[in-house]
Amino acid sequence: MVRFWAHDQAEFPLPEGHKFPLGKYRLLRERLISEGLARPEDIRRSEPADWALLGRVHQAQYLDRVREGRLSDREERVLGLPWSAELVERGRRSTQGTLEAARDAMATGYGMNLGGGTHHAGRAAGRGYCLFNDIAVAITQLREERPGLGPVAVVDCDVHQGDGTAELLQPDPAVFTLSLHGGANYPFRRATSDLDVELPTGTGDDDYLAHLEAALGGIEAWAAPELVIFLAGADPWEGDRLGRLALTKSGLAARDAMVLDRAERWGSVVTVALAGGYAPDLADTVDINLATARAVVARAG
Ligand SMILES: [Zn+2]
Repeated sequence: MVRFWAHDQAEFPLPEGHKFPLGKYRLLRERLISEGLARPEDIRRSEPADWALLGRVHQAQYLDRVREGRLSDREERVLGLPWSAELVERGRRSTQGTLEAARDAMATGYGMNLGGGTHHAGRAAGRGYCLFNDIAVAITQLREERPGLGPVAVVDCDVHQGDGTAELLQPDPAVFTLSLHGGANYPFRRATSDLDVELPTGTGDDDYLAHLEAALGGIEAWAAPELVIFLAGADPWEGDRLGRLALTKSGLAARDAMVLDRAERWGSVVTVALAGGYAPDLADTVDINLATARAVVARAG
């Protein structure tokens, strides 16, 4: 049985009409239960990540400003979310969820955070709805808990480039950062991943899957990772408001299967984080996330 980590109970205030899909997290948790993919007790609520742990990835002054509500107007604009104590609490819980899911993966083969994938957060800056970089935090802590941890691959299939992850982890020789994203999408100032694949606007299922297969081959040429952190963004979907690509829901399911199959072949354990998804109807984003969860549950057996 796969264990899931949730933090949706920690809501935060958003202005009317804001694009952040606050409602998707609770809907996904409820559907996991109603569709029999998880029992209520399989979905655990993550605690807020320790400030000391966040401080091993992020700059101390940045964290002070976040904690004390002293982000500048510009920093808040770049983050894209209005600061509140509740937002900070939620960001910490979301970050911890990815760490817990990584621990589950190490223990049982698979773990999934019903959130996280906050890949735009860099060392000294929140960006694009991302306050903390959960991926870098999880890897940092896991290494301390398991000094022998082997190579780690970040397979970032969110439609936006994982610029914060690239900034934080590309220099790390034991981590391979792959980002597969829309070439015309945010962020407009990129960081360099170990492998960046820029897809033209309008890319559909077949081309996407061909690029993904080649990119996974790039990881394979580097090493067979012990741990794969998969950012299963729902925003490459054709109906997404921010994505600009044209994948169908079945194309996204094929993407998930390709990543999970390859990880299985490598003998990797897998941690899944949701990352983005901005369908006009939240139910579409939730469908896509649910299909990812279903694929994980099916493999975990
Ligand atoms: Zn995204």
